[in-house]
Amino acid sequence: SEAHARYERANPRSQAVHLEACNAMPGGNTRTTLFHGPFPLALESGQGGRVRDVDGHAYIDMIGEYSAALYGHSHPAIRAAVEAALARGLNLGGHGIAEARLAQLVCARFPSIELVRFTNSGTEANLMAVATAKAATGRKRVMVMNGGYHGGLMYFGGGGSPVNAPHDYLLGRYNDVEGTVALIEAHGPELACILVEPMLGAGGCIPATPAFLGAVREAASRVGAVLIFDEVMTSRMSAGGRQAMLGIAPDMTTLGKYIGGGMSFGAFGGNRDLMALYDPRRPDALPHGGTFNNNVLSMAAGYAGLSEAFTPAAADALFARGEALRARLNAAANAAGITAQWTGLGSMACVHFGIAGPIASPADLAAADKTALELFFLDMLHRGFYLARRGMIALNLMVSEEECTAFVDAWQDFLAERRPVL
Ligand code: PLP
Repeated sequence: SEAHARYERANPRSQAVHLEACNAMPGGNTRTTLFHGPFPLALESGQGGRVRDVDGHAYIDMIGEYSAALYGHSHPAIRAAVEAALARGLNLGGHGIAEARLAQLVCARFPSIELVRFTNSGTEANLMAVATAKAATGRKRVMVMNGGYHGGLMYFGGGGSPVNAPHDYLLGRYNDVEGTVALIEAHGPELACILVEPMLGAGGCIPATPAFLGAVREAASRVGAVLIFDEVMTSRMSAGGRQAMLGIAPDMTTLGKYIGGGMSFGAFGGNRDLMALYDPRRPDALPHGGTFNNNVLSMAAGYAGLSEAFTPAAADALFARGEALRARLNAAANAAGITAQWTGLGSMACVHFGIAGPIASPADLAAADKTALELFFLDMLHRGFYLARRGMIALNLMVSEEECTAFVDAWQDFLAERRPVL
């Protein structure tokens, strides 16, 4: 409550923005993830690796738009591409050249993606991938993992969500090889697809073990279910996503976030046989409309970002920087003797307080200390670091090594100052 009071004193204009927003939006909010008590910050601008709020505070941006702002803010390559696209005109209502370039680059980077189609969000990409699997297999059931998040209409924390798309879902247990394989085999003939994140992102940055993904891959093939990797978040782990690092090829992949250069974006792709179902030259083609599927801003920004900024070498460097940061954060907690763990992979991590044992599935987070997490979040804002309320960070290319060190220092100071309540 002392942290809340300090937050309220520091952010009067954010509070005013929130109260005004409440007049026209439920809880003043149009994006649930961003809400937190007593009211969320209203951001005004971003430049490089920093964002600024309406009360004039500058923050090092440690969350990078929940992984979509991989290029930071106003990256010169993205800016130039967007300005050039703007100059040529928006909403032309026809095929352009940018979409084919971006599609070819995506196919070149992700070997399991032979053909791809674009959407407006990761959510839509997942809905389309599931629809593809149902159409291709003639089956109805969709297997997902507990704690999985595949978009606003496909959330499986705590079992599910009342606003989920009305699929017939079956829940596997993340990282439980035997249990999940048994479930796949028991329901094999009904299973259209298995949709899985190679790392639970919103579920707490819990990586799948290679053994788990490998076993799911084999079981999916045995029962003839389409294996879909949701790489909306994990595609940043290497130029070819997490699948390339593990050498495990799904039948389909969904993408989103940074691949559109920070514009609204999603994509679903996979092997030629499945994706050819959408070939409009076929008399029986599946339909896939969408006014903004090839919008010129996303297509141009996405291509510029991948080709000019997020090269394979840049992807590897960002991964290494994130791994080193996470190791330092965990070492600091150990040295302070405080039970707190940063889980994750590469440039994405999430903190969990009060759990001493290994964290391999959402069930392992049941006893997490939520009060400590809230305190951490508010204290880090106070110290000038913007991150997700759930304790997640996602490095962007514009956050420097020095800023990572400053984050580690702030974490150490936080642990020392709040020791009595941690
Ligand atoms: N899938 C995963 C793994 C995600 O993390 C997200 C968003 O956070 C989505 C899908 C949904 O993407 P979007 O928010 O673009 O609809």
